[in-house]
Amino acid sequence: MYNLAIIGGGPAGYTAAAEASKAGMSVLLFEKDTLGGTCLNIGCIPTKTLLYSAKQYYNACNAQKYGVSAENVSFDYLKMQQRKQKVVRKLIAGIKQQLQQCAIVQAEAVVKSWSETQITIEAAGEQYEAEKLLICTGSRNFVPPIDGIKDNPFVWDSTDALNAKELPQSIVIVGGGVIGMEFATLYHELGVEVTVVEAMPRILPNLDEDCVNLLVEKYTKQGIKIFVDTKVLSLDGNRVATSAGELSADRVLVCVGRRANLSGLEALEGLEIQRGTVKVNEFMQTSLSNVFAAGDVTGCMMLAHVASRQAEVAVGRMLKRIPLQRIAYNAIPSVVYTNPEIASVGLTERDLTSADCVLPIDCEVHQLPMAYSGRFVAENEGENGLCKVIIDKKNKTVLGVHCIGNPASEFIAAASFAVRMGYTVHEFKQVVFPHPTVSEILRETIDK
Ligand code: NAD
Repeated sequence: MYNLAIIGGGPAGYTAAAEASKAGMSVLLFEKDTLGGTCLNIGCIPTKTLLYSAKQYYNACNAQKYGVSAENVSFDYLKMQQRKQKVVRKLIAGIKQQLQQCAIVQAEAVVKSWSETQITIEAAGEQYEAEKLLICTGSRNFVPPIDGIKDNPFVWDSTDALNAKELPQSIVIVGGGVIGMEFATLYHELGVEVTVVEAMPRILPNLDEDCVNLLVEKYTKQGIKIFVDTKVLSLDGNRVATSAGELSADRVLVCVGRRANLSGLEALEGLEIQRGTVKVNEFMQTSLSNVFAAGDVTGCMMLAHVASRQAEVAVGRMLKRIPLQRIAYNAIPSVVYTNPEIASVGLTERDLTSADCVLPIDCEVHQLPMAYSGRFVAENEGENGLCKVIIDKKNKTVLGVHCIGNPASEFIAAASFAVRMGYTVHEFKQVVFPHPTVSEILRETIDK
């Protein structure tokens, strides 16, 4: 009997497997597809690899603003795809390396029976026993119940889009969330005609409004069509009927959220499911004492870095590590890889000041254009950007930071650190940032 069985080999599953086996537990990991899960195979890594290729092409086409002329710039999408596969293969090999101490079963796992001391799991006709179970089954693309979407050959989900060997000439993207806007960026930079249809009054509805407005302004000027407050009513082939009129394109990419994968868990009687996700406590323990869950299946922020942190917390709890760790959900950074990138951490102005706000904290907002950073000006010709810091008026702690401007993804961790540690403005100001870096904008804005 194994100490721990893990179902799912994505960031939650492989992090937990490595952590638990390092601590001496015997670990059995089930993965029905490829190690690395959505993040490595059909999510974060392949999209960022393609986005980087697209950015290289786009920058080469626009190099004249930096005094560089490049003629006859072209790209080969198939080569971009091949490079993407190479990157994915390399990273998966790295994960396999980390999991040498674990037993890995490459098959779909189904829980057969549960008791407080033993869980039986079946995979590929074999039965396996473990004392504890960690559910890391992830999530899948949600297909909305819209007439004409199902089995429509013109409709792609993000996986189809990532694996396509050719680019469409035009695309309608349904859903202006994170996935939608990252694909809008990729396709636009490679010359595809892009239209985004978003049901809410604005794209990226959970992000800072001023940052999103700057992005919308830039993308609209560049020719990306963005329809907000617009419902998709039905599809007929490549024609999309919306509340703003009919749209058509070579392809229709649907990215309107993801749903937790719960299949194979039916035998876990008493496993509490809340709003379609596995309910967990702060230590990632489910309603069953020896069953834990981590990652997208728990529905708390579907981000790879949350998944891996949740996995560490779950393993810490299994090992009864003292002091018990919890996840600081208030300090989880997130990045949208548009161009420019939007990076944020902590509370937004809206969380604190809107009429329906749940946290009535008196706050002050400091903001500066990114142009206050010399490095930003040097490297972002003709670009705008914004850094906004939300501060608790009473005790002067940093509650949130929101930035648009490259490379915001690379310095948001410094802001996360400040929020996580509960730094006051005074404490943050004592941190020295290297000059010249775009990160200095954080200090400048806080000091304002
Ligand atoms: P999302 O929830 O971020 O966005 C979906 C968007 O679709 C929302 O804005 C929603 O209002 C809109 N929508 C829903 N139904 C619609 C309809 N019928 N017509 C038009 N618009 C509609 O979901 P996503 O973009 O699919 O991403 C899924 C998950 O993956 C998210 O949790 C996201 O955070 C995560 N993810 C993260 C990253 C990153 O961190 N860079 C990248 C990709 C995905």
